[in-house]
Amino acid sequence: MKKTKKRALTALLLAAALLLAACGSAASAPKEEKHTVSSETLYVKKVENLPEDFILGMDVSSVLAEERSGVRYYDFDGTEKDLFAILAENGINMIRVRVWNDPYDSSGRGYGGGNNDIDAAVEIGRRATANGMKLLVDFHYSDFWADPGKQFAPKAWEGMEIEEKTEAAYTFTKQSLEKLREAGVDVGMVQVGNETNGALAGEKTWFNIQYIMGAGAKAVREVYPEALVAVHFANPENAESYASYAKKLDYYALDYDVFASSYYPYWHGTLENLAAVLGGIAEQYGKKVMVMETSYAFTPDDSDFSGNTISDGSAVVKNYPYTVQGQANSVRDVIETVNSIGGIGVVYWEGAWITVGTSSWEENHEKWERDGSGWASSYAAAYDPNDAGKYYGGSAVDNQAFFDAQGRAIESLKLFSLVRTGNEVPLSTDAVEDARVRLDLSADVALPDTVEAVMTDGSRQEIPVVWQLDEAKIAEMKSAAGVYEIPGEAAGRAVRCFVTMAELNFLQNGGFEDGTLDPWVITDRGGADELGIENKALNSLDGDCNLHFWGAKSGSIDFDAEQTVSNLSSGTYKFRVSIQGGDAGDAEVYAYVKLDGEVIATAPLAITWYNNWSTAEIRDIAYAEGQTLTVGVRVKCAGEGSGAWGMIDEACLNAQR
Ligand code: CA
Repeated sequence: MKKTKKRALTALLLAAALLLAACGSAASAPKEEKHTVSSETLYVKKVENLPEDFILGMDVSSVLAEERSGVRYYDFDGTEKDLFAILAENGINMIRVRVWNDPYDSSGRGYGGGNNDIDAAVEIGRRATANGMKLLVDFHYSDFWADPGKQFAPKAWEGMEIEEKTEAAYTFTKQSLEKLREAGVDVGMVQVGNETNGALAGEKTWFNIQYIMGAGAKAVREVYPEALVAVHFANPENAESYASYAKKLDYYALDYDVFASSYYPYWHGTLENLAAVLGGIAEQYGKKVMVMETSYAFTPDDSDFSGNTISDGSAVVKNYPYTVQGQANSVRDVIETVNSIGGIGVVYWEGAWITVGTSSWEENHEKWERDGSGWASSYAAAYDPNDAGKYYGGSAVDNQAFFDAQGRAIESLKLFSLVRTGNEVPLSTDAVEDARVRLDLSADVALPDTVEAVMTDGSRQEIPVVWQLDEAKIAEMKSAAGVYEIPGEAAGRAVRCFVTMAELNFLQNGGFEDGTLDPWVITDRGGADELGIENKALNSLDGDCNLHFWGAKSGSIDFDAEQTVSNLSSGTYKFRVSIQGGDAGDAEVYAYVKLDGEVIATAPLAITWYNNWSTAEIRDIAYAEGQTLTVGVRVKCAGEGSGAWGMIDEACLNAQR
């Protein structure tokens, strides 16, 4: 039923597209006039030696659904314009579009994510071509999202053996590309699969995967011989996986031109790693390489009532803050990295997938369901019950677009043009980093005088800060251990100091959690059978490790464990330590404190039975700077038979309030 309807509509659209394409090519020869991009605020360091034909692409697959939902796009001066014109004027030279075979349920209701079938791709391609940009066609060979987590076969391919499926992939690719060709779309590249990390169209062996890819590539060569054929993977942080994909494709002699990778800075490792991994493949196999998807948040805030993939609300700064400038710097650096290894381009993912309304989830939900403008509609449950069927909703990347919630272009969009010329405007503060300090409960509350600022070029500077901290707050902080959030202001921006008030332990490795004895000094007088670190949470007072001892012979447990502390300030301190064990016999067990080598205080400890911890605390240790302070435990047992054994844990030297 739905197929019939859709076919009729397709024919109509196709006729319209052909007509428009014909008019477009006749009326507007390539525009000679170059749009000039300038910015007074956006800092962009020039990417040196960037070739004229370097691909600066943008995936805008959701645009038609967005427009159906009433979204309009506006230029920097507030003029409503075709999104494609805005992108072209700002340096984008290729438009990427995903293609799903049949993203509709049996009643013809769209799965969402743009409902991107080939007809949507034709319309997007036509508009890209009309604005002088090439089209990059991204075949998922699925009816909905394909990524490392899922590569479901299209419904129509269910149950097919690999031979039949290969033929279906060839036919589908060929017919789809022919539609684009007929519409006059300038296709520059075609992907045979999307993020195909070891699976594609339900196939999970490379033997079968490469058949599907090869069928797609064959169709591309026939319909668009001038276009590049790309394979696309995710997770470049796994260098070994990438090496194995490239090797497998080489082994099967797959006919392709471009080895492409997603690169989302939050998850996909460093730029250095990306360069090494892609650069290595380019060199070893003589393939072109590129970043097929990247993006970055210009704000941590959501605008469409549907959660985002990136939403860290704190002002904590990473290498790139979640600001308009941080977004531009991130993408600029990806471009520089790809260019540095001779890569051919960088494509930004879904830079125009903004909110379809600012009033309520209910209002937006209605549009997502009706128009397919959310990442998934509830109708996707029929195809993907466990993910889309449960978590359907809006855009998860509205805070990573180049347009605000009203559809106005934001300054970072200019980076795609400005990377070619550079735009090194005077530096200013872009973001300030929250401060974090740990303070001793007994000490004065002193917060840092400066916080770290990230400048518009990504460099860091210490800048002065003023904290809102009064006597009442200080009294509260000193009254109880905990984390306190103190507001402040630096360079006119809000900043916070997270203050952890705690009893600071001036001992190192006080709970033996380092897994070594260092810097404890053990003097073993009795010749214990075992005397060292035990990694066993069950036997420890806290954490995983303790100082364990055991001796079979009477008198073999006779040792001191002590630690000497330097760099303490003058004041009053307390020392606490715990022990448990058994079979100690006539034991002499105590905690002690030495000043300048002389024992000044002891406190008894008892070894009784398993898990019955005995704790000693020595208080009022008056220490003056320059003295040597040593704390320790003396253990001497006269156990017989099964031998004395035990564990020491949680030694703490704190300031005494
Ligand atoms: Ca959202």
